[in-house]
Amino acid sequence: MEKLTLIIPCYNESEALPYFYEEVCRVGQELDRYELELLFVDDGSKDDTLSVIKGFAEKDERVKYLSFSRNFGKEGAMYAGFCNASGDLVAVMDADMQDPPSLLPQMLQLLEEGEYDSVATRRVNRKGEPKIRSFFARMFYKIMGRISDADIVDGARDFRLMKRKMVDAIVAMGETNRFSKGIFGWIGFKTYWLEYENVERVAGETKWSFWKLFKYSLEGITNFSDAPLKIASWSGIILTLVAAVALLIVFIRALCVGDSVAGWPSTICIILFIGGVQLFCLGIIGQYISKIFHETKKRPIYILSETNKKDAK
Ligand code: UDP
Ligand code: MG
Repeated sequence: MEKLTLIIPCYNESEALPYFYEEVCRVGQELDRYELELLFVDDGSKDDTLSVIKGFAEKDERVKYLSFSRNFGKEGAMYAGFCNASGDLVAVMDADMQDPPSLLPQMLQLLEEGEYDSVATRRVNRKGEPKIRSFFARMFYKIMGRISDADIVDGARDFRLMKRKMVDAIVAMGETNRFSKGIFGWIGFKTYWLEYENVERVAGETKWSFWKLFKYSLEGITNFSDAPLKIASWSGIILTLVAAVALLIVFIRALCVGDSVAGWPSTICIILFIGGVQLFCLGIIGQYISKIFHETKKRPIYILSETNKKDAK
């Protein structure tokens, strides 16, 4: 019998987890042709998420958990899940039911047909989400689509079912700066995109503030694209050319009509402008250097403090 592992990253999800568990058990009955493993990853929750999970584990031996020493972020939680999943098929899903477990049977069927290696999901709308958040999210995907070599789809969720070979490829990408949507796209494999209407979270609150999302989007851009570096170099080249032409004009003018003190303000403006652009470009380069800095330290992506899984990594 093939084994199906569900990876569920949880951060302060004690309110949503009972609904999730109930729904997964219900859906699990339809999937009795698979041996199920529910791998909950407690990402350093501050509420009683871990004891709720332990409660499930006591009654249900399909429930496994990994608990972190502190909050490492959803990316770390997903990576820990991938490293420890023992299934032939693996799916990642949120604990708040925004990734409906009821889609699983359909996803499995698509995979069983054999043509695809992975079934990914995409929400076709963003109903119930703040307008401003949707606007910026759309913009992010548009920009990413243009500048990145990883194929990133608008509205894509992390909710994905995949075969073992894809999981192994993800585990092999042990980079510290992680952006899973980019990683999934980058490793390739044949992916079927399943579309569904947005579902609002069943209980609890979102863990993503606008600022956190903004930083995450920058992470996405700098991890999967060199475009900002190119922008920096091109603006440098163009400004140098402009400055050379301007200098020539000033020089010729000084020869023909003599120098004048007039033009002081514009000079200052130009100096300030170029100074600004230089700092901006330096900042972009700094972003990439900081990535290298973190990457070279090779710190672990997560640290386990507790688990009920044998040989947990
Ligand atoms: N999550 C996590 N670590 C974090 C933040 C979130 O493991 O630091 C989990 C969270 O418990 C949930 C999933 O990631 O299962 C998605 O989080 P959330 O629902 O808050 O994000 P949203 O759906 O609002 O984008
Ligand atoms: Mg959610």
